[in-house]
Amino acid sequence: MPSGFNINFSGKCVIVTGGNRGIGYALSRACAKAGASIAIIYRSSADAEEVAEKISKEFSVKAKAYKCDVQDDALVTATFKKIDDELGPVTGLIANAGVSVVKPAVDLTAEDFRKVYDVNVLGVFNSARAAAKLWIDRKVKGGSIVFTSSMSSQIINQVGTSQPLTQAFYNSSKAAVSNLAKALAAEWAPHGIRVNTLSPGYVNTDQTSIMDKAIRDHQAANTVLGRFAEPDEMTGQTILLLSDYASYMTGGEYFVDGGQLIW
Ligand code: NDP
Repeated sequence: MPSGFNINFSGKCVIVTGGNRGIGYALSRACAKAGASIAIIYRSSADAEEVAEKISKEFSVKAKAYKCDVQDDALVTATFKKIDDELGPVTGLIANAGVSVVKPAVDLTAEDFRKVYDVNVLGVFNSARAAAKLWIDRKVKGGSIVFTSSMSSQIINQVGTSQPLTQAFYNSSKAAVSNLAKALAAEWAPHGIRVNTLSPGYVNTDQTSIMDKAIRDHQAANTVLGRFAEPDEMTGQTILLLSDYASYMTGGEYFVDGGQLIW
């Protein structure tokens, strides 16, 4: 028996949307390290299959990449069913894929709105519903869902003191998805399904690396810990929420933000 606090996911199967890079990649690896089979959902990255193979070899688990745009409800439902047949039974979902448009609010368009909300809100909903349907149809109680929202559900990100980053649709979409988790937690509790939200602060990924260094320095200096997180630092909270140790946790939003929100 291993000593200490141990979370063992052998026999489990976790779907991670956007699991091929950034925070999602760290989450895929962490679930695989705990022993779960991993299904990575990606949109267009050419190396996603290689990424899955690498994870499979490193942790001796089944891991496979599935190309699936989370905006497409029918495709998401069919892909989750395929995953359930090939790697399942599916036991957990991390709905992590997300995008942003950075632009002054006066210039934002309906197309920008759809670009952000169709992934960050509808895409998360499509993923959650497809997973919940698998579990409800199976008539076996259980299943844990974690949304990757953001501390941006609560604050307006800045590029300098009192200067907004200008991503109104991103911030509001994250507030929407954090609340969506509460609504789904309430509806699906009778089926034994838990729905929670991980809300990261600033994390070193492709999404943040495109910002100017001066902006990143300002943002880092304004966290209590004085730095961005590494993607791996998002894994502990997420693994806990997926696990049976979180059996009394649902509808919660958990901030892993280096203390940003205390200011
Ligand atoms: P990245 O930009 O590094 O990666 C985005 C991932 O989402 C990719 O795997 C991408 O797939 C996938 N994706 C995007 N759109 C779709 C789609 N329509 N269908 C399927 N997959 C899609 O993101 P991060 O790792 O930075 O962020 C992950 C999550 O964390 C997001 O929800 C983000 O909003 C949130 N977050 C990030 C923070 C940060 O500082 N980085 C802070 C707080 C929250 P592909 O590779 O194929 O394009």
